[in-house]
Amino acid sequence: MNKEKKPVIAVIGGGPAGLMAAGVAGESGASVLLFETNAKCGRKLLLTGSGKCNITNTAPMKEFLEHFPENRKFLYPSFKHFFTEDLERFFNQYGLFFQREDNNNGKIFPQDHRAATVLEVLLTYCQDNQVDFHLSEPVRQIKKGEAWEIVTDKGVYPVTSAIIATGGLSYPGTGSAGSGYLMAESLGISIEPTRPALVPLVCADKWCRELTGISLEGVKTSLWESAGGGSFRKIISMSEDILFTHFGVSGPAALSISRWIKSSPKSCDKDLQCDYRLTIDLCPERSAEDVEKLLLEVFSQSPNKLLRSVISRNFGLPNAVSSVLVRLCTPIEDIYCRDTTREIRRKMISMLKSLPLTVLETKGYNEAMVTAGGVSTRELDPRTMGSRRNPGIYFAGEVIDIDGFTGGFNLQAAFSTGYLAGRSAAVL
Ligand SMILES: Cc1cc2nc3c(=O)[nH]c(=O)nc-3n(C[C@H](O)[C@H](O)[C@H](O)COP(=O)(O)OP(=O)(O)OC[C@H]3O[C@@H](n4cnc5c(N)ncnc54)[C@H](O)[C@@H]3O)c2cc1C
Repeated sequence: MNKEKKPVIAVIGGGPAGLMAAGVAGESGASVLLFETNAKCGRKLLLTGSGKCNITNTAPMKEFLEHFPENRKFLYPSFKHFFTEDLERFFNQYGLFFQREDNNNGKIFPQDHRAATVLEVLLTYCQDNQVDFHLSEPVRQIKKGEAWEIVTDKGVYPVTSAIIATGGLSYPGTGSAGSGYLMAESLGISIEPTRPALVPLVCADKWCRELTGISLEGVKTSLWESAGGGSFRKIISMSEDILFTHFGVSGPAALSISRWIKSSPKSCDKDLQCDYRLTIDLCPERSAEDVEKLLLEVFSQSPNKLLRSVISRNFGLPNAVSSVLVRLCTPIEDIYCRDTTREIRRKMISMLKSLPLTVLETKGYNEAMVTAGGVSTRELDPRTMGSRRNPGIYFAGEVIDIDGFTGGFNLQAAFSTGYLAGRSAAVL
């Protein structure tokens, strides 16, 4: 850092990444201006974990990184600088303690389960370090003059460096409307195509509606993409819970899978030949042969039982699910085991091992928790978060092409990249 003159740093965006970056830069000795579109910071942060804020996760670093389907290597240096234990220590200093939920996939929440407390700490941290808040002042442009210039409707601010932490495109009502991508592009920085992620999926299958609210545990959901000529190739499988809704599917498996759906909603033709399909393996621990063996055994032991009750009991499925399965195999809903033909049995095995759903579209940015794509990680130095072609410009948080699964991974990434960007901008 220049000892004679303090660096002046503009942080653009008052979400978790920007607030952390601003506080750290101030603590490291810089003068910090924080610009936020809204009248208050952290609107999206307040919504996290349904207001309870799943702030991070107990997973050790290697496993933690596996929850980011792409650009793990890029995240590694920022995690090395500021990981879960550092985040905990940081919040502990302000009297906010963490609660681990080991029986809830290692999710960590603030002890009082209030996102508002997390936001209060971040704001206090910024105030403690003399961050100058410019609220209701969206940044319109970043220009290269003698120094960098931050242009808003209220003025032009010369700064030593700028940290762009404007978020993605998801939940646009919270202020994240993609302006960071435009700023990056105006500086010649390339953007990976964006798409909604961690978003529910709309399916053509009307029976989903009947199962609204039912969540299936211990199943394996796979996404298939059209390979042309009526064939499909498997993209990814997720062994997580899936939740049926009145429009299709949600829950951890559907949300995680959604980032791989790249085509537009209009990817189905009129005969519903869609680009994407899901299959759910309702009994992943059994092979198709094992399922057939079990069915034959049960049919011979209990010929006078209803097929749907036998399916329900032997495969641990809710009654409503086994009723749907039977209906997908035969028009006779109340069919007995004794009347189940070889063909119906074959169909049932196929449904149990590979229940098909046709994906029409995702619920879009309005319901997406994060945005996949964004500022290309190739453009940034992972050791600083700085732009390779624009010295003095840094990025942090969701605006970068990083997206993790649910479980507290995205907030940790916002805090870690924010921390590294703030420190780098202040001390370099
Ligand atoms: C409903 C919901 C629940 C979620 N729950 C969780 C959870 O429990 N755990 C988890 O890890 N993640 C969760 N997430 C994801 C998490 O909220 C994001 O990953 C995180 O907020 C990203 O932080 P950020 O600072 O990069 O961006 P944001 O939080 O989007 O903040 C960006 C800020 O920049 C401001 N801004 C934008 N453009 C400009 C501009 N031109 N000038 C000035 N300011 C600007 C915006 O107004 C906004 O305040 C959830 C997301 C949603 C939508």
